[in-house]
Amino acid sequence: MSNQSAVTGARLAAKTTIGDWMRQHGDLDRLDCELLLCETLTLTRAQVISRPERLLDGNTLSQLASWAARLRNNEPLAYLTGVKEFWGLTFAVTPEVLIPRPETELLVEQALTLARELAGQPRILDLGTGSGVIAIALAHSFTHSSRTTGPVPEVYGSDRSTAVLGVARGNADKHDVSVHWLVSDWFRDIPQLFDLIVSNPPYIATNDPHLAALRHEPAKALRAGTDGLDALCIIVREAYQHLISGGWLLVEHGYNQESAVQNLFVEQGYEHISTERDLGGRPRVTRGQR
Ligand code: GLN
Repeated sequence: MSNQSAVTGARLAAKTTIGDWMRQHGDLDRLDCELLLCETLTLTRAQVISRPERLLDGNTLSQLASWAARLRNNEPLAYLTGVKEFWGLTFAVTPEVLIPRPETELLVEQALTLARELAGQPRILDLGTGSGVIAIALAHSFTHSSRTTGPVPEVYGSDRSTAVLGVARGNADKHDVSVHWLVSDWFRDIPQLFDLIVSNPPYIATNDPHLAALRHEPAKALRAGTDGLDALCIIVREAYQHLISGGWLLVEHGYNQESAVQNLFVEQGYEHISTERDLGGRPRVTRGQR
């Protein structure tokens, strides 16, 4: 590029406004685009929307161009910005961890309700914690809620990967909550007994066509054998040995796995088995009591 055209390019770039950029990227999800503008310009969404005439400088435009290319390649926004909201809190996410889904808030809600009914200082385990969202949302709710009467429960989070637990640990520090982190492949290195075990394990069948759209997320966090039940089988079976008598297991699963998962609970001898639906009306969380 000659000096002359570099100068012209810079002038053109300097004339691109928020409104222009939004129009030029009309093929992308509007909310994603607004959130990228918020991130680069350090503005709120209301500010981005209400100031379409604001000019974007060259650095901002090149950052936005590289993000837009990644969005076009179906990379989730959370991996671009490195953050995702869950349970009203902001969590750091990296490509090594699953991006938390809103459905999983149902698991947290149910776990909170059960935990509040437990006596003494209950021990709670989030098995396969990933970015730590479930464990941290629980610990945060116990620490910051006036509804917690009696001792604050002890929360544990496990993952087989130390790198993944590093992400979880960072999130716990950021939200100033105390969680005991355990490195373990499911229950292999967990000797403790718990009052409540929760898990959002991988539950997608290896040949499920939905996996194509999720290709940027870690396969280990999503895929679970030909019927998607490999991890759930292990968890439902082995959690029984890690629950005190009267303790509960709560698991998230696929919308079409309700009866298969309930059968796993029945075979293992759990009682009071039931399944709750998510906000979309799909069976999503099954519980059983030892
Ligand atoms: N527990 C984490 C979550 O709910 C990670 C789950 C997973 O990796 N399957 O987001």
